[in-house]
Amino acid sequence: MQKYGKEIDMRNLNRNLENIRVMKQNRKDASLKYLNEFNPDDEISCPICESGQYKYYVDIYGYKYCECQYCKSIFLANLPNAEELYQGSEEVAVEHYVDKEIFEKRKEIISKPKLEFVLECLNDYNGGGNFKINSWLDIGCATGELLSFVQDMGIKAVGIESDYREAEFARKIVGLEIIEGYIDSKNPNEEINNAVYDASVISFINVLEHIPNPIDFINDIYKYSNDDSILVFEVPRHPSLASFSNLVSHDAVYRHMVPPQHLQIFTEKGVDEILKDKYEIIGKWGFGQGFFDILTESAINADLDNLELYNQLIDQSNPIQKVIDEVGFSDTMIFVCKKLSKLMDSSSN
Ligand SMILES: [Zn+2]
Repeated sequence: MQKYGKEIDMRNLNRNLENIRVMKQNRKDASLKYLNEFNPDDEISCPICESGQYKYYVDIYGYKYCECQYCKSIFLANLPNAEELYQGSEEVAVEHYVDKEIFEKRKEIISKPKLEFVLECLNDYNGGGNFKINSWLDIGCATGELLSFVQDMGIKAVGIESDYREAEFARKIVGLEIIEGYIDSKNPNEEINNAVYDASVISFINVLEHIPNPIDFINDIYKYSNDDSILVFEVPRHPSLASFSNLVSHDAVYRHMVPPQHLQIFTEKGVDEILKDKYEIIGKWGFGQGFFDILTESAINADLDNLELYNQLIDQSNPIQKVIDEVGFSDTMIFVCKKLSKLMDSSSN
């Protein structure tokens, strides 16, 4: 099943010109704190397909993004200290997300359509019948926007979150079962591995781009999950109009190719590589905000505020963005995958 376009008005999520200007500056200041200077002697390979063939792509505040010459994914050459970055550092602002009013809005606007798409894919895969989900594990669940719906459907919902502020919100305000931590191949956590085994659906929305070794992450989930499990994940996608917008504004980015948070931007070929012999893709949904990004970037560069024409153009962004997504330039993609059984795995060897 393939789907393109997603109706959204970013202005409803407080993404107006003034806020975006501030976000860009904050991102830049925060990014520079974690900068490890690039060492040209470092041996680099693509974290998605392991090819050693790459070209420099763009430099954003001293962070060097490269383009893999095999899978064409974009990856960061000089990695920040990921642990420092993700264990709820006070410098990483989450106020925007740990707010009940914004939670309800994001839940309805962002999470609901994603859950509906996953259910549609699974029912379609099941020949039109209802696909039975016993439990759902969301890795990097943040405040629990997606799990809150899952819980409402009467499905057992468990989240894993490393930021203690978001974990606390999800537990106390949303009433979810949350495991505080993250998947680390070098230090396996029994509680997390058991939760992976128990889940019929394992999701990680906008997580894989933050992980220094996405291959190990997928391998771990494959290893610990049960044979019939479903994988659902969302990643930033390349090539896209949003990548182009980042290229023309690389001294002030706030989304998509944003260092040091986003370590890699995936091509569909890269995703195929990372899932090879482990998972079969049964559904894809490509969407984005490249059109919004280009208009916003231009308005900010020209120092325009609340221009009527800007707002009129943004009013039309949904149908225009849908065409951009359909012709292959969406900046975000959700994948729904079925685990290949070990029997099939061994017979293919
Ligand atoms: Zn690659």
